[in-house]
Amino acid sequence: PRLGALGHVVPIARCAHTMPVSDQAFVTLATNDVYCQGALVLGQSLREHRATRRLVVLVTPQVSNPLRVILSRVFDEVIEVNLIDSADYVHLAFLKRPDLGITLTKLHCWTLTRYSKCVFLDADTLVLSNIDELFDRREFSAAPDPGWPDCFNSGVFVFQPSLETHSLLLQHATDHGSFDGADQGLLNSFFSNWSTADIQKHLPFIYNLSSNTTYTYSPAFKQFGSSAKVVHFLGSSKPWNYKYNPQTGSVLEEGSGRANQHQTSFLNQWWGIYHRSILPLCEDIRNKDHHS
Ligand code: UDP
Ligand code: MN
Repeated sequence: PRLGALGHVVPIARCAHTMPVSDQAFVTLATNDVYCQGALVLGQSLREHRATRRLVVLVTPQVSNPLRVILSRVFDEVIEVNLIDSADYVHLAFLKRPDLGITLTKLHCWTLTRYSKCVFLDADTLVLSNIDELFDRREFSAAPDPGWPDCFNSGVFVFQPSLETHSLLLQHATDHGSFDGADQGLLNSFFSNWSTADIQKHLPFIYNLSSNTTYTYSPAFKQFGSSAKVVHFLGSSKPWNYKYNPQTGSVLEEGSGRANQHQTSFLNQWWGIYHRSILPLCEDIRNKDHHS
């Protein structure tokens, strides 16, 4: 009877737990068609690992219509953000600091106030397992940057949309700029007590594993690498810059820079999803276009 009771209770508990939560979202950003490739693979990887939150992609006017249609097949919401059209204070911050263009665009995620909490993921990240537990964390949670671990990396973070925070961030951008010219410097100087205030806000490195820096501590990678949950292809060579051989299921090394063995396996996983799930979507849309 005990087993029977357990068998009865567990599925119900599990069911309640995996009910979709509609006031929380995973959010990414693509300002052009190239970065859309990354967003699509990321969105698909979240779906394959049964994300229970809404999937949102922010796009800018440069993103073409066909790609918006494809994005809308993977994401629940495709939201256009336009720096120039937005509220006056955004416009002002932008005029004063035109160098912060993409940075200010990323900050738009704070305006998604229909959501109570969100997880932002760069378009060059790939999800390797379910990461819904990130919603147990509070703003501002992020993982250490491999290059300077007292700073967080802004490729994966937990935040709480708020127009007030958004305008404070823009004010900070206008007043102080960004020490690295991008969102990471700005966010680190805004959430400046991240490294000391609350250990709960330090996400484990497995939630933002930089694929190209793991070689610097190989034994740790050997020990912990298999538990990676999000891989981040940060730096200049993005997965979409590689060539892929669908027959062998692996990326071609030549001409695309040296990739270490760990990186290659993640690249192959990225390309596997792209080839299996995203390219067919693109074909599908193209054919529909042709017949209408
Ligand atoms: N991004 C974009 N278009 C660009 C550059 C960046 O949409 O031309 C977005 C995209 O979501 C990207 C994020 O901003 O993942 C941060 O840029 P990137 O990942 O290239 O920086 P890194 O992680 O390599 O420092
Ligand atoms: Mn990135």
